[in-house]
Formats: sequence, structure tokens, C-alpha cells
Amino acid sequence: MSAVPATNLGFPRIGPRRELKQALEQYWAGKSSKADLSSAAASIRQANWRQQHALGLDHIPSNDFSLYDHVLDTAAMVGAIPDRYRAPDGGLDLDSYFCMARGGTVRERSLPALEMTKWSDTNYHYIVPELASGQPFALTSTKVLDEFAESVDLGIPTRPVLLGPVSFLLLSKHTGSPEPLTLLLDRLVTVYEEVLEALERDGATWVQMDEPVLALDLDPETRSVFALTYRRLRDAAPGLSILVAAYFAGYGENLSAALELPVNALHLDLVRDGDQLEHALSAAPSSLALSMGIVNGRNVWRADLEPMLVQLEHARGRLGAERMLIAPSCSLLHVPVDLTLEETIDDTVKTWLAFAVQRIEEVVVLSRALNEGRAAVEEQLRAATSVRDARRTSKRVNDPGVGRRLTTLTPELETRSPFGERRTAQRARLSLPVLPTTTIGSFPQTAEVRQLRLRERRGEITAEAYERRLRELVADTVRFQESVGLDVLVHGEFERNDMVEYFGEHLAGMAVTANGWVQSYGSRCVKPPVIFGDVSRPHPITVGWTAYAQSLTDRPMKGMLTGPVTILKWSFVRDDQPLETTCRQIALAIRDEVADLEAAGIGIVQIDEPALREGLPLHATDQSDYLRWAVRAFRLASSGVADATQIHTHMCYGEFNDLINSITAFDADVISIEASRSGMELLRAFTDFRYPNEIGPGIWDIHSPRVPSTTEMQELLEDALTVLDASSVWVNPDCGLKTRSWDEVEPALRNMVDAARLARARVAATT
Ligand code: GLN
Ligand code: ZN
Repeated sequence: MSAVPATNLGFPRIGPRRELKQALEQYWAGKSSKADLSSAAASIRQANWRQQHALGLDHIPSNDFSLYDHVLDTAAMVGAIPDRYRAPDGGLDLDSYFCMARGGTVRERSLPALEMTKWSDTNYHYIVPELASGQPFALTSTKVLDEFAESVDLGIPTRPVLLGPVSFLLLSKHTGSPEPLTLLLDRLVTVYEEVLEALERDGATWVQMDEPVLALDLDPETRSVFALTYRRLRDAAPGLSILVAAYFAGYGENLSAALELPVNALHLDLVRDGDQLEHALSAAPSSLALSMGIVNGRNVWRADLEPMLVQLEHARGRLGAERMLIAPSCSLLHVPVDLTLEETIDDTVKTWLAFAVQRIEEVVVLSRALNEGRAAVEEQLRAATSVRDARRTSKRVNDPGVGRRLTTLTPELETRSPFGERRTAQRARLSLPVLPTTTIGSFPQTAEVRQLRLRERRGEITAEAYERRLRELVADTVRFQESVGLDVLVHGEFERNDMVEYFGEHLAGMAVTANGWVQSYGSRCVKPPVIFGDVSRPHPITVGWTAYAQSLTDRPMKGMLTGPVTILKWSFVRDDQPLETTCRQIALAIRDEVADLEAAGIGIVQIDEPALREGLPLHATDQSDYLRWAVRAFRLASSGVADATQIHTHMCYGEFNDLINSITAFDADVISIEASRSGMELLRAFTDFRYPNEIGPGIWDIHSPRVPSTTEMQELLEDALTVLDASSVWVNPDCGLKTRSWDEVEPALRNMVDAARLARARVAATT
């Protein structure tokens, strides 16, 4: 009887202690050589392979590692390198690679980075490849071959991972007139054929082709290109087995087409869509194996192995062991590396968790249970069941008070008076000029601020000393904002490491880690909190800082909160209740904070929801339900205040034409959005649609270190005023200022305030 292999789709590439981050930042700072960087990278890769091998994994991925991003690596592989970054020999050297990723100076030319955007519904960002008209493709980087050879040398032959050609093209951006997909593929697949031939020649037995777009809604024409593409790839390397993988959702309407691909195996994300299994089991041709993505690659709960085993046994009964692989639902890029290195997290919660290393252990246990019989892993199976039971009954998880409160909620709690009435009350209270100026919340997180937090955490300074210095910074920031002439002030958010982690530290039912890092992009990592139980707010969180800041000025001080949808989206979430329920619990906690801010005399509260868009489910059929509960959660958090209290919200992106109804339904009194980079393009949405409340289109692109001039910002503002009524417009930057330096913030804000004054004068003169 053949054995069911234990496999993995991808391992975190940052290293167990963020070794990649250190190595990259040393290199970028000019403090280490190319050789140092490449040896640090090789150590991470080799340690990953050795570890996965030692854990008993049968298919170990390679080329899942990247110095920056795997989509950028693919662009490099196929030679989709815009001319401006190319070396004189037409290739791509390391510094040009980094220049594409993050901007910089190569061959004495200063170049901006390529665009970056979110990878599906994750918080990982990929570099968007740029394709020119008639884009040629040629094998330009042999990274995938080199890494396979490296693994062979180590004695651990791997399963190379490639981003598939169709997804590569659909994730790219066309700078010229786009060619038909079939024409582009025709040329691009030639490069992939060459790569697969080489892999086969070098002794690879399997290759994993990631085609994440197969989990999106595709039109029939796009769907139809896969068959021909994969026929060519199969024919190019007939001895190489091809696994096609999509994840983060089921295949939906693409399932039948996916099952008919002329490949050896198809991966199913059974965590996001378990229902597709039955169809796949009955429709898969006898030549196709199924990769059962059964343990969750997107979350950190220890797997409940028993029911999974039942499902796998059922599948084996239908398929036979030779047509089945066991895997995590997706690459483990999206979970932290190793739970055993986590020392801070609450001991009880820790026993409930699994990071990447532990996920692989689970995959191996499941495969051994199938191959050797349950008895071989009885202890592990029992342990998993007892963890599940412990979580189910734990007092840490269940807070009857929170449950009761949720059942008493009425729709009135999600409703405020009509906007017109609120506006009158707010204008009377705040007496702001037309085109009021404000910022999005954070001020520069300087080295000093970060050091202070670190030293307080390490116990090197007392809580009092920490607090005293932070209060000085708040006071300086208030005086600074008054001096540049801003109308609505903020305290600066110096006490926050991260807008979600900070709330995770203070809310009951959430835990934070010390080392639970997940890559966000390049060397940047985040530590998502873990929502493990019913969420509530035992004590006020931000009221002290905001009220202190308000005490220093007569101008309105805006309280700053992170919204329920964003806290949910940027955390690891409970898997034992609907997301909607968790989101409502967080909304109530935020509602309590809003109420306390109001009671402390704060007249404006901003509730940021930058993650609204990325929470959207991948299939259109699931989106309206998500938007319904997301809107309700925001309204629950924000509707407990008097008419005279002004609620703001903020979102960090421009293109939201498709979300405009939901954003309107938030019913925030004021929304600030990103607009400057798209040259106010988003405002076109508002020519067809009259946004009923007030809006602050960002007029300073804070992602760039460039200080915009008064004229430049005034022009953007005047553009906005062609479609929006001056009485409803606010003047603000695109986003928070925490990544900028004071040297940039000071002149830019002065220019912004000047731009507002000039526009006010113009408006007064023309009306
Ligand atoms: N208030 C936050 C800040 O200014 C908002 C950040 C965000 O939108 N991502 O930093
Ligand atoms: Zn923002």
C-alpha cells in the first residue's frame, strides 16, 4: 500500500528570530556585504529545510524563500524588468532588485519603487510587476534552479514552488495598452517551459505551481486559458509531477476547470471551503491526486485532529492513498515561525496554539495516522482533543457577561440622529472654519520614542519615567500643532507600537506575543494579537492620554481609536464562533471607550478602519454578508454618542468606488481617505455619487519623503472642490505621520495649512 505524503506549501522566510530583517537592514545600511547577505539567506533556507526534514515532512518547499518578495522574484525570473532598473547587460543585479522593491539610487539614478499591494486577503504585500507593451520574456534569474540545487547538495531534495504564469500576469500591471492574455501567455509560458525542463533535468520530481487567481471569480475566457497553459507545461517536462495550488478560498465556479487540468495534483483549501471536497472527490479524474489543505495556514489554533482524520480517511477511501497528499491550507508564510520560541504569551493560551513548525508536526501526525494507523500517534491525537476541550470550557474564553450583553443589543444602538441634526449640533460646539485642517493621528515615531517603549518593556526605565517623557512629547506635539495653525489636534499616538497591537494589549480576550512575527513586506514584520476569548474592555485605554492632551489646548482634541473591523482583520481570530460575533464584541469594547472619551469632554473621536477593504471575501457571493456585519459593527462602536460629538473614520486607500455604499452606511460624520497619489482620481466616484457627510481627501502623500509645496496641495484641494461642496470638505494628509521625520512634517503641515487658508479665501471670494 502506498503512503500518503506529508507536504508543505511554503515556510516563513524571515527566520525564527527575524534573521532576514537584520541581514537586509545591515546590507541596506551599507554595513554588510553582498556575501554576508547571501550567506545569511542561505542559513535561513537551509535551517528551514533541515527542520522540516527532521519533522518528517515528505514534500519540502524551495524557492518559497525570497530576499524581498516572491512575486518580484517571478518578475526577475521571467525578465519582466522595466528598462529603468535594468543593468547594462540587460540583467538584474541585487541592488536593482532592491531598487524595484523599495526605490533607491542605481547607476546614479534615483528611482522610485514599483507599486506594492496586498496579497489576496492577507496582510502580506507583494510588489506589482510592470509589463510594458509588447513585453518580452526571457529566463533572467535562475534562483529557483539554484535553490533546488542547494537543497540537493544538502541531501534534502525539495519541491520547488513557482508562482504560476496565469496568476503572474493577472497580478501584474500594464503600463502600455494591455495585450490579450493568450498572447502574453504564449510568450511567457516559453520561459516556464525552460524552467520546468531544467528542474526535471536537475532531478526534481515535483513542482508546485501556485495559481492563487483560481480562487477568485474569473470570467469564462480567463478560466479557459489554464488548460492550454498547463498542457504546454506538462509536455515540456513529462517526468516532473505538477501540483497546482490555489488557496484563501474554494475554487468556486473554477472547480471543474481546475479538476480537468492536465496536471498530477490539485491543492484544495479545505479550511476556507470544506464543501468543495465532495465535488472534488467525485469529479477528479483518476489521473489527478488531491492535496488536502486541511490544517489552517492562516491561523494559530492547534488543529482538532480527530475530525480531520475522519475526513481524510473518507477521502482516502474514495481516492486511494496514491492520489492523496496532506498539507496546510496555504503557505505558512502567514503565521509566526515557532511557538517554542514564544516566551511572553499567556501560558494557558500558549497551550492552545500552533505556529508554522507546529503546523508541520500536525501534518506529519495526520499522515502517520493514515499510513501507520492511529495507534502510532495516539498520544498526539489525544492531546489535540484535550486542547480542543480545554478551550471550549475555559473561563479565559467564555465571559458570560459579554455573551449576555450581546443578546440585549437593539438596532437603536446602531443608529444616530439624522446627519443634518448632528451637523448643526457639532458646528455649534466646535466652531471650526470652513475647510478645517487636521491630521490622521500619529506623529513621528522617532528613534527616541521607539527606544523609550523598548526600555520600559525591558524594565530599564520605570513606568513613571516613561509616562513623564511621553507626556512631554504629547505637550510638544500639541504646541507644535497650534504653532502651525491646525484646527483639530491629536495627541500623537506615541504610546502605541502598532494601531492594533496596542488595543490587543489592553482588551480582555486578546493576547499579544513577543516573537510572533509575520512578514508584512520586505523586512517589515508585524505581530498580530491573538483573539482567544470573549472580548471586553476592563479599563479605559486611551482616555488618559487624550484628556491630558485636551487639557493643554483650547482647540478640539481628537480621540484616536482603531475600529472593530480592523482589530479583527489584523489579529488571529477565534475559529469557534462566527467572525461577526467576535467583531460585535470588539465593537462593544470600542463603544465603551468612545463613551469614556465623550464623558471626559472629548468632542471628536476618530475610529480608523483601514482594513475594511482587505477583509472582503474573495468570492462576490460572500461579500455582501461581510459588508453587512462590518457596517453594523462600526455603527455599534460609534453610535453611542450625543449629536454634538463628532465621529470621524479613516481609510488608507483611494479606490473604493465598489465600497461606497458601505462607507456611506458607516454614517461617520467625517471620513478621511487617501487621495493624493491618485491625483484625486477617486473623486470621480463622487461626481456620480454625492457623499452625504463630510470628507477629507488626503492632499499630502505621506508615503513619500518629499515635502509637497503649498501650491501643489492647493491644486489637489481645488480639484476636490470641483466635485465636493466646500462646506463638507476637510484638509488633511493621506495617513498618519508616524513613518515621517519632524523635518518633513513641519514644513509639510505648514504648507498644508497655507493651502487651506488660500482655498478658504478663494471660496469666500467666489461665493
Ligand atoms: N491613526 C493611525 C495613524 O495615524 C491610522 C493609521 C492607518 O490608517 N493605518 O497612524
Ligand atoms: Zn491610513
